[in-house]
Amino acid sequence: MKIIADTHCHTIASSHAYSTLMENVHEAKAQGLYAIAITDHARTMPSPPGTWYFENFNVIPKSIEGVNVLRGIEANVLNSEGNLDLPDLKGKFKFDWIIASIHDIAFKGNKSFDECTKTWLKIAENPLVHVIGHSGLPDYLYDYEKVIPVFGEKGKLVEINNSSFKIRKGSHENCKKIAIICKKYKVPIVVNSDAHFCMQIGRFEKAIDMLEEIEFPEELIVNSSNERFNAYLKKHTCFFQDM
Ligand SMILES: [Zn+2]
Ligand SMILES: [Zn+2]
Repeated sequence: MKIIADTHCHTIASSHAYSTLMENVHEAKAQGLYAIAITDHARTMPSPPGTWYFENFNVIPKSIEGVNVLRGIEANVLNSEGNLDLPDLKGKFKFDWIIASIHDIAFKGNKSFDECTKTWLKIAENPLVHVIGHSGLPDYLYDYEKVIPVFGEKGKLVEINNSSFKIRKGSHENCKKIAIICKKYKVPIVVNSDAHFCMQIGRFEKAIDMLEEIEFPEELIVNSSNERFNAYLKKHTCFFQDM
């Protein structure tokens, strides 16, 4: 199983990550990746990059040293209504890639199973969101059987996040259950590192081990071939549009 793009990477702009965009690109190149997405945290996290940071994204080329660079953001799910903290860029820039994630520090909603189910169903309806970020968190269990098919219907990619296997305690079994249900309902996934340091870029070993263990079909992994990844970008994102 080969992953050709790492679409969840942080830079020093996230203020708890330690590499620059160029260091990330160089590592992506060294790892032979076709693309990366820069997805720094949105404003509800501590010491976040400001709106100013995102609205100037047009200065970043879409391709750097042969690596495609998606200019994205990791938005916070704020509450059970599924509100996100996306910046208002007033038309100055349109994100190529938007991840919606729940982070304890930013989420003010109810954590009950029913409310988390409702929250993710609301996010599924948001046309701006591409990726459902690290949703295997044990404190935010939701009805995978009910919600995951809806993610598929709405064109959302379910993320299998390599960092969840290392730093988010208790996520492993949930990530596996999520992947099994994605396989059952043929819902596409995306495999990411969630790198906070450049040496994590392109490292997906734990996620791949789990996916191989459950014989997850490669054709459902959007970032397992250039062709599949491009087809998703063309259909669901503005990456190939001129801005
Ligand atoms: Zn996150
Ligand atoms: Zn992240």
